[in-house]
Amino acid sequence: MSLSGPADSWGDHAQLRLSTLTPKRESWIDVNPFTVRLDLHGDLDFFLRSGARRGSIERSLGEKTSVKDVIESCGVPHPEVDLILVNGQAVDFDYAITGDADIELYPVGTTTPQFKEQRLQATTTNRFVADGHLGTLARNLRLLGFDIAYDPQAEDRQLLTVMKRENRALLTRDRRLLMHAVVKTGYCPRSQNADEQTVEVIRRFDLLRSLAPFTRCFRCNAPLQKVSKAEVLERLEPLTKIYYEQFRRCTGCGQIYWAGSHFSKLQKRLEKIRANCA
Ligand SMILES: [Zn+2]
Repeated sequence: MSLSGPADSWGDHAQLRLSTLTPKRESWIDVNPFTVRLDLHGDLDFFLRSGARRGSIERSLGEKTSVKDVIESCGVPHPEVDLILVNGQAVDFDYAITGDADIELYPVGTTTPQFKEQRLQATTTNRFVADGHLGTLARNLRLLGFDIAYDPQAEDRQLLTVMKRENRALLTRDRRLLMHAVVKTGYCPRSQNADEQTVEVIRRFDLLRSLAPFTRCFRCNAPLQKVSKAEVLERLEPLTKIYYEQFRRCTGCGQIYWAGSHFSKLQKRLEKIRANCA
């Protein structure tokens, strides 16, 4: 406790210095106001406020600003931007804008042959954490074999903790959450329809070749394991005992799965999703 005195004093002192210096800094060190023009390629104009001119937006700035802050002030979360060109040059998110500039933004998946080395987003992720509003998307992705952390009660900070600790990409339609500085990889589904969202995620993260339907429990996310009929016989309904021979059991919650009538409906739905991804 004896250390708290000096630390507080320094805090007050620093605060005082900052408050007296701030007006002076603004009055003579800052650069003259300047204009940046952003061109949004692909579907990035999804994030522009309604009323903004389609695909293009202008901003006046009064001080040196990182390109990441410029982009996010227009409503586009940084994980959605795969390539930034400032006056034709590829830059990263920390690049400082200090004067008039033309900024071009490309989402993941836009085919520009140049600048392959300057891409900003990972495409190889196959583990995700989905926010509480994306329950059906999470279920679909689990049915397709992907590892999806999902808790309908999770708060924002819990989502970010799981994302970071388990190295998962964040799926959310909350663009403010996606803008959080700790988010490295993430995606905002454009559609409100879960099957369309599933197609979007498969395309965004290039997952089509990694589909492994019916290998993961859609309830608890644990992998399924093949089991013999004898092992699960006592838990089966009489008709299931008669008509089915192949079973899988969840290694997490113990749920038993077999290819019943519900299965063929699901299979048709997943086939449709797969066809739409191609
Ligand atoms: Zn389970």
